[in-house]
Amino acid sequence: MASSADFDLFKLSEEHEMLRETVRALAEAKIAPFAAEVDEQGRFPQEARDALEANELHAVHVPEEYGGAGADALATVLVIEEVARVCASSSLIPAVNKLGSLPVQLSGSEELKAKYLGALARGEGMFSYCLSEPDAGSDAAGMKTRAVRDGDFWVLNGVKRWITNAGVSEFYTVMAVTDPEKRSKGISAFVVEKGDEGVSFGAPEKKLGIKGSPTREVYLDNVRIPADRMIGAEGTGFATAMKTLDHTRITIAAQALGIAQGALDYASGYVKERKQFGKAIAEFQGVQFMLADMAMKLEAARQLTYAAAAKSQRVDADLTFFGAAAKCFASDVAMEVTTDAVQLLGGYGYTRDYPVERMMRDAKITQIYEGTNQVQRIVMARNLPSA
Ligand SMILES: Cc1cc2nc3c(=O)[nH]c(=O)nc-3n(C[C@H](O)[C@H](O)[C@H](O)COP(=O)(O)OP(=O)(O)OC[C@H]3O[C@@H](n4cnc5c(N)ncnc54)[C@H](O)[C@@H]3O)c2cc1C
Repeated sequence: MASSADFDLFKLSEEHEMLRETVRALAEAKIAPFAAEVDEQGRFPQEARDALEANELHAVHVPEEYGGAGADALATVLVIEEVARVCASSSLIPAVNKLGSLPVQLSGSEELKAKYLGALARGEGMFSYCLSEPDAGSDAAGMKTRAVRDGDFWVLNGVKRWITNAGVSEFYTVMAVTDPEKRSKGISAFVVEKGDEGVSFGAPEKKLGIKGSPTREVYLDNVRIPADRMIGAEGTGFATAMKTLDHTRITIAAQALGIAQGALDYASGYVKERKQFGKAIAEFQGVQFMLADMAMKLEAARQLTYAAAAKSQRVDADLTFFGAAAKCFASDVAMEVTTDAVQLLGGYGYTRDYPVERMMRDAKITQIYEGTNQVQRIVMARNLPSA
């Protein structure tokens, strides 16, 4: 017979609680003060990068043997969640450092891991992940970027689109076709450096939200790289890219949780201050019910996300389902909760004088990237967990 303790799986350990408190304090002191300005000016949150790197929180997932903190998947989720609570753009620093470097960690040679994970951990450069292309989004296997072998080198040509932190990152995991006959099994992964000859970047996209996170095209024009920059064996790049997303969709769920928590915290404070009809609007049951629903949905999303993080850490057989489910559910919750937060602030919520409209705009992207929520549902339907 299972005891009640068995069901208390996601009570955070003391270490995890301490990490949350540390990141929250840092985020409030060093990142929150710039969040509105970063959004307004559409500029990279350098203050956040500096604060995260100074405290070794920019890529906590890197194993200790490569000079990293060796944090588990749940710890990584907590870092991203707490940064996103104050600034979603800034949370893409630790999130995309994991997304970009995880292919190396999962499938790279020892030499690649030592070189690139080490450099990332030391703060020598951020990592980006280059899967999408102008004509290959949801159907990522339809990519056209080519890599052709030339002796001890590979030569890459193509255009990657929507690449988060492009131009700022030093390192890029690039998926490219090495055998066009084999579709997804003819795709390989490579590490490309910003300084490699033939690498250049498009203008920053003008986006609805996460305006502080640069999104650019990456152009590869006869980029000649040594053959040992291939991640894993030839033809395994797409499988590595999908395996990576199983783990990192949970970090997008974490981002969604943080954005939603930030909006709920702000709205629940506001309703106690705002008076209408002679009393604080928090005293109206219609307002209380909204706050209750927001908190209920958020907590359900948090439990699913932390469960998925535990599965990521153990690499459980049902990770693919849980990664997709956590990302899909938490991002839908973030959109609902942030929209309700705007509603609770009335007309003020609709202005940039208050942070909740930024949070609502930022929440939207979590339903789109790392696979849209329709794609998550396709992934879930193909990987239903057994009862
Ligand atoms: C700000 C931002 C940052 C990003 N960062 C990165 C990054 O760092 N690296 C990277 O590689 N990519 C990145 N992306 C790309 C992102 O993952 C894609 O935009 C996303 O996968 C959707 O692809 P698409 O935009 O081509 O839309 P499309 O694939 O054209 O989809 C359009 C619509 O059709 C729906 N649809 C498509 N196929 C199906 C189907 N089979 N069934 C049901 N509905 C379907 C989609 O759900 C969507 O609603 C980023 C995107 C944005 C906007």
